[in-house]
Amino acid sequence: MSIKSIKVIFCFLCLFLLISEALTIFGQSRNKIKTISKIAKKLKAEDVRRKEVETLLLRGEYQHDGSGELIYIGTILSVPALLKVLENNPPQIFNPCDWASVIESPLAPVNNPLPPPQLNNTPLSLPVPYSPPKVEEPKQDCSPHKSYICTYAHAVTALRKIPGQNFVDYQDWKNWWEKYQTETKSPKIK
Ligand SMILES: [Zn+2]
Repeated sequence: MSIKSIKVIFCFLCLFLLISEALTIFGQSRNKIKTISKIAKKLKAEDVRRKEVETLLLRGEYQHDGSGELIYIGTILSVPALLKVLENNPPQIFNPCDWASVIESPLAPVNNPLPPPQLNNTPLSLPVPYSPPKVEEPKQDCSPHKSYICTYAHAVTALRKIPGQNFVDYQDWKNWWEKYQTETKSPKIK
């Protein structure tokens, strides 16, 4: 085999490797583009849904399920809609001591149970009436309690996804939001 033909074979080999490498890179880029466009589509769909849900919440509709959805797809832009949910679902305030006094008859006193009767006639020991150990009654907390419905809790869960914020009361969230908008100089969203 002449040197010339060896050179030709070598050139073909190089060309073949070059083409196969180019095809691999092309295939990988196509896959990457496909993945990126899939993610972009998903984000766009989420964005559309988020806006739909926020509009409903601001109208005072769909507040339970909508707050639940915003736990997953909510962003900082969802705050006004979530604040609306808190505003529309204030806690019930009750005094547990007043509530207890409404009940007319508390549970009937339980007689001290005796040990089970002996089966044979020669008791091993005389039955001693059982007296339960004395337990001090816990002091009742009569301070006013707040009771929230779960819609409120879902909205708070969605709001708590904002890093570093952990309030419960509507007024605390509202104050924080006003301060946040001033500090970040973002256009006020009400
Ligand atoms: Zn619920």
